[in-house]
Amino acid sequence: MSNIQNHPLISISEEILRPTRVEINLKHLAHNFKVLKQKTLPSKIMPILKANAYGHGLVTTARFFEKIGADYLGVAVLEEGILLREKGISLPILVLGGIIGNQIPLFLKYNLTITASSIEKVKQIDETAKKLNTKAKVHLKIDTGMERIGVHYYNAEKFLEAAHSLTEIYIEGIYSHFANSDDAESEYTKLQFERFKEVLKFYKKNKLKKPISHIANSGSILNFPEANLDLVRPGILLYGVYPSSKLKKNLDVKPVLSWKSRVVFFKVIKPGHPVGYGSTWQSEKNIRAVTVPVGYGDGYLRSLSHKTKVIIKDKIYPVIGTVSMDQIVVNIDQDSVYNNDEVILLGEDKTRSISCEELSDWASTIPYEILTNINTRVPRIYIED
Ligand SMILES: *Cc1c(COP(=O)(O)O)cnc(C)c1O
Repeated sequence: MSNIQNHPLISISEEILRPTRVEINLKHLAHNFKVLKQKTLPSKIMPILKANAYGHGLVTTARFFEKIGADYLGVAVLEEGILLREKGISLPILVLGGIIGNQIPLFLKYNLTITASSIEKVKQIDETAKKLNTKAKVHLKIDTGMERIGVHYYNAEKFLEAAHSLTEIYIEGIYSHFANSDDAESEYTKLQFERFKEVLKFYKKNKLKKPISHIANSGSILNFPEANLDLVRPGILLYGVYPSSKLKKNLDVKPVLSWKSRVVFFKVIKPGHPVGYGSTWQSEKNIRAVTVPVGYGDGYLRSLSHKTKVIIKDKIYPVIGTVSMDQIVVNIDQDSVYNNDEVILLGEDKTRSISCEELSDWASTIPYEILTNINTRVPRIYIED
């Protein structure tokens, strides 16, 4: 069964949509969830769904994780949490980002778990909960070496004392975040983990019940399983992609997302007739070329120009010229390719494949940026079997 998510702009039947689309393989997503669950047992698991679930579609992906037994969900910003609640998701949802302005009442209204990242903010949460005659659910954020948000590990004791003296908040969790866990060799990861464990001694020392503690992201799940603690927060690995192209692919996860289009134009290009903006590429002989309707306006990054390749009928071909906003041109040399033939930008054919990690190398970026840049102009199609 496949169902096409509504086009964001108009209602139009599938056959006449522009053929560029993303396919989300939910069977692979369920498989990856199971693999990660088994690898990290007995830790609980919080799939991370920020940035439109790494491009996989926030709401459908969240519903699916709820169905297959996730314990929590994690998002980056308040709006993502509100959207999930409005679409009927009832799992606990932790918003990982910092709170700003007058957001706290909305967190409370939508029963979203708040990241408390300073003494001042945790007090503000407590006061707001009191005023609204409710309790706030919070996770305390400790900065062990990322210098983004959270209380520095060396000031954590005062923070924990203050937080645990408040009455209108329920401190469900305490967490930190790794800066270098995509590097299997990183000493800094060990140092951050030591700092976090030191902070957690507060609970034993004060004979307090320790909240759910967590620090593990995809990189540390792969390279540093000691850090799994009570709960793990995998993002990219759940989607079957490794945090970095340099890591060994030693876990049986499968890419969930593939990105496809079709040929819309065929021509012969003569020598001396450059291709695309800036006229950066030309042929020395007659070649056949096809045009494919995808470009940086969809998130097929312009920095892929002169590096990237596509698959047509199980053969790899180079993209020539610069990537335009809505189109690319593919050199098929002397081969025969026809209008409407399928073009795989990311994914696999019978024997050939292009991975997200490869694309990210060609664009001199990281796999995360490839996935999260595929924007909502590209329809998502969910495949369940
Ligand atoms: C994004 C994020 C994660 C997930 O990271 P991956 O590398 O995709 O596994 C976990 N925790 C926090 C705080 C994050 O911001």
